[in-house]
Amino acid sequence: MQQSASHRGNSPDLDVAIIGAGFAGLYALHKMRNELGLLAEGFDDAAGVGGTWYWNRYPGCRTDTQASVYSYSFDREMIDTWQWSERYPPQPEVLAYLNAVADKHDLKRSIHFETRIEKLTWDEASSLWRLSTNRGESLSARFVIEAVGLLSSTNIPDFPGADRFGGALVHAARWPQDPIDFENKRIAVIGTGSTGIQLVSALAPKAGHLFVCQRTPQYVVPARNGPIPEKIRQWMSTSYDSFHKWVMDSATVFGVDESQTPAMSLVEDDRNLVYERAWDEGGGFAFMLGTFGDLTVSAEANKTATDFIRSKIMETVDDSQVARKLCPTDYYAKRPLCADGYYEAFNQPNVTLVDLNEDPLIEMTPTGLRTANCEIALDVIILATGFDAFTGNYLKIETVGRNGERLQDKWADGPRAFMGVATAGFPNLFTVFGPFSPFTSQPLVDEYQVDWIAGLIRHAMAQGLNEVEVERAAEDGWIETCETIAEQTLFAVTNSWINGANVPGKARRTMIYMGGMASYAGIIEEVARGGYLSFRLA
Ligand code: NAP
Repeated sequence: MQQSASHRGNSPDLDVAIIGAGFAGLYALHKMRNELGLLAEGFDDAAGVGGTWYWNRYPGCRTDTQASVYSYSFDREMIDTWQWSERYPPQPEVLAYLNAVADKHDLKRSIHFETRIEKLTWDEASSLWRLSTNRGESLSARFVIEAVGLLSSTNIPDFPGADRFGGALVHAARWPQDPIDFENKRIAVIGTGSTGIQLVSALAPKAGHLFVCQRTPQYVVPARNGPIPEKIRQWMSTSYDSFHKWVMDSATVFGVDESQTPAMSLVEDDRNLVYERAWDEGGGFAFMLGTFGDLTVSAEANKTATDFIRSKIMETVDDSQVARKLCPTDYYAKRPLCADGYYEAFNQPNVTLVDLNEDPLIEMTPTGLRTANCEIALDVIILATGFDAFTGNYLKIETVGRNGERLQDKWADGPRAFMGVATAGFPNLFTVFGPFSPFTSQPLVDEYQVDWIAGLIRHAMAQGLNEVEVERAAEDGWIETCETIAEQTLFAVTNSWINGANVPGKARRTMIYMGGMASYAGIIEEVARGGYLSFRLA
């Protein structure tokens, strides 16, 4: 940290304070400082850049979104020169990429590392935010951009006896910096979401014994990881603009050819050929979005996909009892999973499935886990229990807005926000990929939202405006739109972090816009074109 905020008379210490140094925060800093020429600084409680990719260092951690869309678009030179080794690159490579971007654009000197923003208070008299850090510092900023991550605040269930376990107990998303030795160790993984299945695939070959503690089975499609397909590589290098447009014009920004074909429009054999091809090509999003267009909205269509995946599980896993326990019975309407070798791992003698529905987890003991039916001796317990998604990190910061309104109170029954970028009652405060953002892949949409926020900040500064604040009516209207659309999908009736059902006590509700990126972009661009309709400018 070479440059730091200095007191500037009656001016705020910063034009823009940016919280978070992951994909969104780094780009926000580049945009505000390097492109808009503003006095902008970043804050992150990690010791380096990367956000989620800084903290998630567990074995097997990699993207499940293709690298072609899991990288920035703003630096064309890096698109041409950065060589992703795989379609789904591993965590060290993503972290190296983010460090390379930060170094190339000289961002680190403007980031306060190991510094957590603990409190944000809106100062009515000066129209500034007052920020307090865990280091006892305080400073003021005209604008605050929270780039704190959608899936970053860990969900750590209250397991009785956790404090007594004598081995290593870690949450996958707060992985220790020093590597853990897994060779021949007895390891339990609790949780079988995206994180759990990656851990299982990576640890099965090296663990002495691996116990996979599963509460709800999930549908896992092979990743078939390998180099970025030549066709995509060519397209990106010869005409990146058209590739980027294709991606951004899609509903989900996952770089998948999204199918419009209804599943029931084909006879069963033909339909299964489509699934078979997608299974062979690999990729969770390709399977969910590229096969048929109605898997997530029609129960009948959805069942054709779940029947197919269940048949693959039964075919892959040798022990039919284990295979049956691995077969989900709910809809295929969570964020889709992909991994190589997940179901195959259960054919190894050193891998045991612990079905927590049949045999509930009672407690952790000094030597391992006790379930209703057995005691399991362990060296390591890994919690792959997910995140307090969408709201967790915002609510960790005591945020006091206009008229003393606390964000914690405003969001007590679930978040209230406008298009993922702002929340009424909290002027000059922006969020990147905040609640009610579109349901998409993140990095390119992070850039998109940062660009939009930059447009509003530029407008405010050019007009000499001190305050910009979204109107409550616009926020209410947007939430209603999100709810109406979500209710037409099977995501609404399937328990997952997408609707808050994964965290005990959390209000269960829609927190995302399922109307597609192209439609989202059309609406938010209209807001800007109309002179920031829906915002009070003062
Ligand atoms: P998750 O999908 O929420 O899965 C959490 C798992 O922990 C579930 O199996 C859940 O079971 C289990 N669990 C929670 N509380 C439990 C308890 N008290 N006892 C037993 N089991 C419990 O979390 P995640 O796997 O970390 O993934 C979250 C999201 O992060 C993903 O959907 C994805 O968006 C992102 N992610 C991405 C990648 C990637 O790009 N490769 C990797 C990791 C994560 P229930 O289902 O029964 O609640």
